Amino acid sequence: MPRSDRTLDRVRRGGLPAPLNRQLWVGPGSNKPCDGCGERISGDEREFEINFADTLTFSFHPECYKAWMSITYLGHSTGTSARVPTVE
Ligand SMILES: [Zn+2]
Repeated sequence: MPRSDRTLDRVRRGGLPAPLNRQLWVGPGSNKPCDGCGERISGDEREFEINFADTLTFSFHPECYKAWMSITYLGHSTGTSARVPTVE
């Protein structure tokens, strides 16, 4: 499954909040696991770090961040995008 699809799947399953009231930082990968797809973000990749009210931080690959942000526009509806997999 592509990283972006795994990220969307995690939001749909409630393992990741929808993107609201966040601050975004972009920098080199820190080898932390991506909160979207679960793979490590290596130093030669960009890491998108999202900070919620200075208490909660998420790290994403660029494509996982993009997938996660798309949730904002999709809402929590299912089946509206052909790219959202149906894995149950
Ligand atoms: Zn990822």
